[in-house]
Amino acid sequence: MALRQIRELGDPCLVKVCKPVKEVSERTQVLIDDLLDTMYDAEGVGLAAPQVGILKRIAVIDAGEEYQDEPLILINPEILETAGEQTDYEGCLSVPGKVGEVTRPNYAKVKAYDAEMNEYIVEGEGLLARALIHEIEHLDGHMYVEKVRGELLTSEELAEILRQKEMQEEDKA
Ligand code: ZN
Repeated sequence: MALRQIRELGDPCLVKVCKPVKEVSERTQVLIDDLLDTMYDAEGVGLAAPQVGILKRIAVIDAGEEYQDEPLILINPEILETAGEQTDYEGCLSVPGKVGEVTRPNYAKVKAYDAEMNEYIVEGEGLLARALIHEIEHLDGHMYVEKVRGELLTSEELAEILRQKEMQEEDKA
């Protein structure tokens, strides 16, 4: 297991367009394993190669059992289709401790290659759709903070907002 250092907002690697992967070399396989280790260690839902300073079109996602049986390895991913809309709080391992409200499609259909360079299609709704689009945007040098409505919040501020919302709903009931 090897953890890589996660680059944070302001790092030049996060605004670059990444290069397509031609083959999964031994080095690429190590990178994929490290991305998974680093994502799990940081308790993230996804991690893209540029977030650890590697400008290749590779990302990993684990949105949890509710969405998928095993982590997704996305090589050269492309969004084929999106539909619907969802608005929710979103975070990023490159913007630690912060969340922001982002509206995104509620459904995404993505074509990608796995670690054996076999092409596959993944369809996601809700959190998985959000994660797919978020990670693919990283590969083009974009960050969710560009799309946040209002201010970025700390986790404490978000907890307070959610607590107040819950109280309002209890009042209504
Ligand atoms: Zn991110």
